[in-house]
Amino acid sequence: MELFEDFKINKQLHYAIEDLGFKKPTPIQSKSFPVIMSGRDVVGIAQTGTGKTFAYMLPILQNLKFSKQKHPRVLVMVPTRELVLQVEEEIGKFAKYLNLRVAAVYGGVNMNTHHLLVAQGCDIVVATPGRLYDLTLSRALRLKEIKQLVIDEVDVMLDLGFRFQLTNILEILPPQRQNIMFSATMTDDVDLFIQDFFKSPENISVAVSGTPLDNIDQVCYSVPNFYTKVNLLQYLLKDKQQFQKVLVFVPNKKSADLVFQLLEEKFNQDVAVIHSNKTQNYRIRSIESFNTGEVRVLVTSDVMSRGLDLNKITHVINFDTPLFPENYMHRIGRTGRAEEQGSSILLYTEKEQAYKEAIEKLMDYKIPKLALPEGVEISKELSPEEKPKHKEKDFTKHKKTEEERGAAFHEKKEKNQKENLGGSYRREIKKKYKKPKTRGSKK
Ligand code: AMP
Repeated sequence: MELFEDFKINKQLHYAIEDLGFKKPTPIQSKSFPVIMSGRDVVGIAQTGTGKTFAYMLPILQNLKFSKQKHPRVLVMVPTRELVLQVEEEIGKFAKYLNLRVAAVYGGVNMNTHHLLVAQGCDIVVATPGRLYDLTLSRALRLKEIKQLVIDEVDVMLDLGFRFQLTNILEILPPQRQNIMFSATMTDDVDLFIQDFFKSPENISVAVSGTPLDNIDQVCYSVPNFYTKVNLLQYLLKDKQQFQKVLVFVPNKKSADLVFQLLEEKFNQDVAVIHSNKTQNYRIRSIESFNTGEVRVLVTSDVMSRGLDLNKITHVINFDTPLFPENYMHRIGRTGRAEEQGSSILLYTEKEQAYKEAIEKLMDYKIPKLALPEGVEISKELSPEEKPKHKEKDFTKHKKTEEERGAAFHEKKEKNQKENLGGSYRREIKKKYKKPKTRGSKK
């Protein structure tokens, strides 16, 4: 294990580390430091508690020279006001012996307070996307000097519907910058976002420490395709005695809807679904009926299940095999809690075999494989995603070269240019009325 001394950081940071009582870097810190220092774009998969804030702040603080300039050079975006305050506090501790100005801005506070704050000048801005965008629109804050951008908890941000604000902000940042992103889970939305804005990023991920594997029975099934997975799932769930409270993980909203629909045909009211396209009320109802035992099976995507307090899950079924092994750890960590014995079942196709092996490597444990039960029909039908001509992307391996990506990485795809038109429409309206106007509630 590396030591902080190996990082060759300045004295002031060493003193702060000593004061904080940190003995050695956490795995995400060891992995992130050299990559962030190199100036490359970075995609980090790590959750709160792994030391990820310091993982991105340490190299940033090491690089940031004293300056009296007014406009910030580092921008950290996080999804909530609480996180803004937490990150600001953490930076304060790390930068205790550095002469740095940090401005924290978030919604719900009078705009004038933030106008005055940023008018004093700052080196680092920590912000929620909405308030940051408003401050740049009113020209109180200039982002033209930003050299490093950190987006933390991207999965949550996209799930909260901040894509529009994020896109607008990224558009006005100088193109010559380093993008650093952290997310607890990798989702389709996050992947799409990375493809649009990041330049050949380096992927870094770490295992979730302390996942209690001992009281989780893990098994896996090799299954040829999507519909056979559905058949197996239906076969297993017939056993109500054993499968009392089941969380079924699927990779995205589309699969969530399809799997839910196919399960509902067999089990009616016994199944519920949650994903981010469902209304808040719908989600609350689904979770409540699952928690009270009214519903036995809950189909969910990775992001949705985070932060949910779901007790006494008897089985976690991984309908797909996550590309990032950490997502698997998050998923199975939902069962076998508090001394209860839990079970996890992983379904993988031939294409997903490599991901399964990555999970086994991370856990240092080979998941016992079971033969498909005789009663499970092998389907020949192909799901929309399995049909030929669809190219499956593996972003853990494939790194686009500059050429593949096009000359200017910030040049946008056609569909995103459409979004920008939306942005300019709102900007126009904002200019006219001095405050945001919406075209009616989406709900
Ligand atoms: P985070 O994942 O950034 O939310 O950090 C979780 C907690 O770990 C925070 O309270 C940090 O202060 C603490 N922490 C960060 N780095 C280290 C380290 N190298 N050793 C011990 N604790 C740390």
